[in-house]
Amino acid sequence: EPALASRMSGFETPATIAMSMRARVLKAEGKNVISLALGQPDFLTPKIAIEGGYQAALEGKTKYPPIDGFLSLKKAIQKKFKEENGVDYALDEIMVANGVKQILFNALMATLDPEDEVIIPAPYWTSYPIMVRFLGGNPVHVVCPEKDNFVLKARQLKAAITPKTKWLILNSPSNPTGAVWTKEDLLALVEVLRINPQIWIFSDEIYEHLIFDGQRHHSLAALAPELKDRILTVNGVSKTFAMPGWRIGYAGGVKRLIRAMLKIQSNSTSGACSVSQAAATAALQYAQKEVESMKLAYDRRRKKMTAAFSAMNGISCNIPQGAFYIYPGIAGCIGKKTAQGRLIANDQDFAEALLEETYVAVVPGSAFGLSPYLRIAYAADDVVLEEACQRISQFVQELS
Ligand code: PLP
Repeated sequence: EPALASRMSGFETPATIAMSMRARVLKAEGKNVISLALGQPDFLTPKIAIEGGYQAALEGKTKYPPIDGFLSLKKAIQKKFKEENGVDYALDEIMVANGVKQILFNALMATLDPEDEVIIPAPYWTSYPIMVRFLGGNPVHVVCPEKDNFVLKARQLKAAITPKTKWLILNSPSNPTGAVWTKEDLLALVEVLRINPQIWIFSDEIYEHLIFDGQRHHSLAALAPELKDRILTVNGVSKTFAMPGWRIGYAGGVKRLIRAMLKIQSNSTSGACSVSQAAATAALQYAQKEVESMKLAYDRRRKKMTAAFSAMNGISCNIPQGAFYIYPGIAGCIGKKTAQGRLIANDQDFAEALLEETYVAVVPGSAFGLSPYLRIAYAADDVVLEEACQRISQFVQELS
């Protein structure tokens, strides 16, 4: 039979998707499933954004879009970068794509030669290493333990760099841990990067507005202007404006890189959906109030979730300062048996047993490169979260 490409071998379904698929099967069987496995805002897209898209469609903005994005959106992004992040990008240093995912794909496709290395702090968003491998590069995972607040330290970065290093990927606030790199954390990395001029830096700031406890988000390009031409500042509307389905992400970076990324985009997707671009433009311009109220809700849930998990036996819950995830450690549960007799040898076993026995879906830390932990997305209704916490608490109590 016709063969698939050899690059397809060794590609497993990401655990995040696998858990969601299993949850869906159980749901279809009529089970009362709660899924906290996906990093997807539960809020509706702000009305003003939907209206922006709707109006644009009625007005005929339904032709092929410019490859790099509509000027109106690029101007809104330029203003956002300047005012919120303190970074100046010319319009030809900005591009729009089908989500951060496509920005990542374009950037790696445009730069990676076979065997090039990409340094990825672990725990990481699963798409980073998958995409690196997909494009022929080698992901270099650097484990950032809980005692360091899951943050990459300068000495670790230094040790990981080789002549083959092409990129460093940073993601603050982080998926899956919610960790926030402080200004000092970032400046320490900048010192190392400064003397390694062959390295590009992918700064994924998609969770910048979900930041709590008075912490501030710092854009790397603003902190290190001398590295600006090597930094790709990346953001999108999926999380900030609860718009994941609209598929709009964007980036600011040096013209040479943006131009190469646009070549790839031009020959793969022809750019991002025109109607979505209009919706994103409206969101960036007019939806600040909604962003604030969602942030308050996330913060309230974060506090409830960390309190609930901290009270569970065998679970230790660090307090994340950003994004909408908690990443509790479950070392105290390893080696125990569930009420139905399943042995929990690792976090994957924990997540599977939890889903089968209580119908709550979470993702094991192994999927993100650091065990034994769970990643729990609290982008869900308060009542749902309470019910989930109760079920997990009981599940843990019954371990023996
Ligand atoms: N970057 C990080 C760190 C994420 O967690 C996610 C979504 O889970 C994305 C990017 C995806 O962004 P987009 O919806 O813009 O493709």
